[in-house]
Amino acid sequence: MPRLTEVLEAVAARHPKADFVRIKRAYVFAANMHEGQRRRSGEPYIQHPLAAALTVARLGMDEPSVSAALLHDVVEDTPATLDEVRSRFGDEIAMLVDGVTKVGRIRFRSAEHRQLENYRKMLLATAKDLRVLVIKLADRLHNMRTLGVLPADKRRRIAEETLHLYAPLAHRLGIHWMKQELEDLAFAQLDPDSYQAIAEAIRKRAPRLHAVRERIEKVLAEALARHGLQARIEGRLKHIYGIYEKMQRKRVDFDEIYDLVAFRIIVPEVLDCYRALGIVHGLYRPIPGRFKDYIALPKPNGYQSLHTAVIGPDQHRMEIQIRTEAMHCVAEEGIAAHWAYKEGKGRNDDLRFVWLRRMLDFVQAGEQPEEAIENLRLDLFMQEVFVFSRDGDLFALPRGATVLDFAYAVHTEVGHHAVSARVNGEESSLDRVLRNGDQVEIITSADQTPSRSWLSFVQTPRARYAIRQWFRRHERESAVRLGRRLLREVFQVETLEEAQLQALEAESEEEALAKIGRGEVKLERLSEILGVHARMPFLAREGERLWVRQAECCRPIPGDHAIGVFRAERGMELHRLGCPEVTQAEECIEIRWPEDSAGRYLAEVEIEARNERGVLARISQAIADAGCSIEDLQLRQRAGKIAHMRFLVEVSGRKQLAEVLRALRKLDPVVWVARSFPNKSQARAGGAS
Ligand code: MN
Repeated sequence: MPRLTEVLEAVAARHPKADFVRIKRAYVFAANMHEGQRRRSGEPYIQHPLAAALTVARLGMDEPSVSAALLHDVVEDTPATLDEVRSRFGDEIAMLVDGVTKVGRIRFRSAEHRQLENYRKMLLATAKDLRVLVIKLADRLHNMRTLGVLPADKRRRIAEETLHLYAPLAHRLGIHWMKQELEDLAFAQLDPDSYQAIAEAIRKRAPRLHAVRERIEKVLAEALARHGLQARIEGRLKHIYGIYEKMQRKRVDFDEIYDLVAFRIIVPEVLDCYRALGIVHGLYRPIPGRFKDYIALPKPNGYQSLHTAVIGPDQHRMEIQIRTEAMHCVAEEGIAAHWAYKEGKGRNDDLRFVWLRRMLDFVQAGEQPEEAIENLRLDLFMQEVFVFSRDGDLFALPRGATVLDFAYAVHTEVGHHAVSARVNGEESSLDRVLRNGDQVEIITSADQTPSRSWLSFVQTPRARYAIRQWFRRHERESAVRLGRRLLREVFQVETLEEAQLQALEAESEEEALAKIGRGEVKLERLSEILGVHARMPFLAREGERLWVRQAECCRPIPGDHAIGVFRAERGMELHRLGCPEVTQAEECIEIRWPEDSAGRYLAEVEIEARNERGVLARISQAIADAGCSIEDLQLRQRAGKIAHMRFLVEVSGRKQLAEVLRALRKLDPVVWVARSFPNKSQARAGGAS
């Protein structure tokens, strides 16, 4: 069982000037908060944060990391709040505790290869500070070491998460020993038979392997000493999961794995590494193709060493790694080693920045300012945002992506028919920008079709392309449909004759109908060609929004006396009768627009009200109570006794609009309400300002 004094000693070893009082206070607070709680194994709960803190301290992390490790479960598992942690221990520790809590809430759901990298990136993005990851790893390590008491399915889930998420993370952070231990612990849970078989095989060979190890250590030490090289030699057995992976990768049995023992030669200087390599190769025959120079070309996580494999005594293959003390420290402790250097003399600053830069390259960094790197703010470097579908599938989208981008990422059809969404259970619009960890459910309707306005906010090429494609495909179809309806309903003509097609300069009937639908043919000319004068009103219908559009100047709605005007390339615009935007010269047709239409249309309402506190809220409430939503609001004049406002309200037609106006008139502060009409409202607005 770890004790607080051990934690304090471990911190003192690397950070003699640390705030030990705060560590003690953190311990006391955590012990009090967890008082009475026990782990499943029966030991007092405080043993767990204490163990995590000891790991963090032994990694050489700073005092805030250690204090935060002690406090890492108080927000999630006790009545303590984050604000309480902040007021007692300060912003930095609160930020670290919050990070660990948030990372802990990420639920790993899929070991599918494509998704793994997304989970790992999401982990990094959520953590925001590298120290959060180290604390989380220490937390996970202790949980894995004490996993035995949990129910089987829970053990399995945690072990999978550990193998796929946390062990690779330990590797990325360069904490080699932890990666190996996490892998072995997880492997023992996930495949106990294979684990036991390998462990047993090693046990059986142990005496021989140790004899081999000692002999070779001695031979190497003597050879290096003869050449005047100061060196430390470490022989070690491979970890069990490492052997298993090798058996899988090479498709061989345990007995065919020869290099169960690997050696490390640790020397003082970089140049000594290459000298040692020469000595080893002089002693044992190197295996071609196995030499790697990770000193000249470090691994992405900053790892440096020379690797070689040789044929040793008894024809044994052996792996040998050669590195300096500093490289060894980085190889074993990774990020933690760099962190420890941070407070040191600064001699390793360059190395640290090089390393961090590579780390951040992995996190898809571009060129970034130095101070940001200093802050270790991981989220700044993330170019992606990670969100979940309702079923828990993980999606990676570019930063700034919206709900609609997500809908198109799920499926093109989901995008095309998206109406709205629920984000984390809350109603949300399609243009909402997604945040990390959002859970998104798209609400679709068969009646919905893409809108051109969508192009103004979607961020992903996929969504943009799908919307454009849809318009390309549907515009012609829809123009043809509209043209046919015009002929049939307004002119009562079913088919076009050859001569009429020629007159319309069209090769086919379809082309002619498309031209008519797009408004490329003057109505007068059309009636001349058809030889028909009779004009029935045109019936406006929901679902033809591509070529039939509500004009924004007067915004007609179902039930209005409306007229249709063809505008080239834009199709038919619906205006209210008498709209000043429609000039005398333009031809228009009468529109019949019954109120039983299923759609929702925007109407503009102007209000003058006494400028009282809460007046806006009362107006909004009245509109909402009438079953309408407010799409836009403009305050024309706010100062003075009377406020002049314009609301864009979504209604089904004139009846509903009338209800809204009636409700508004009843409000006490409201002195005047009317639906806007271009010429009138301009005059009125001019007078008010
Ligand atoms: Mn914990």
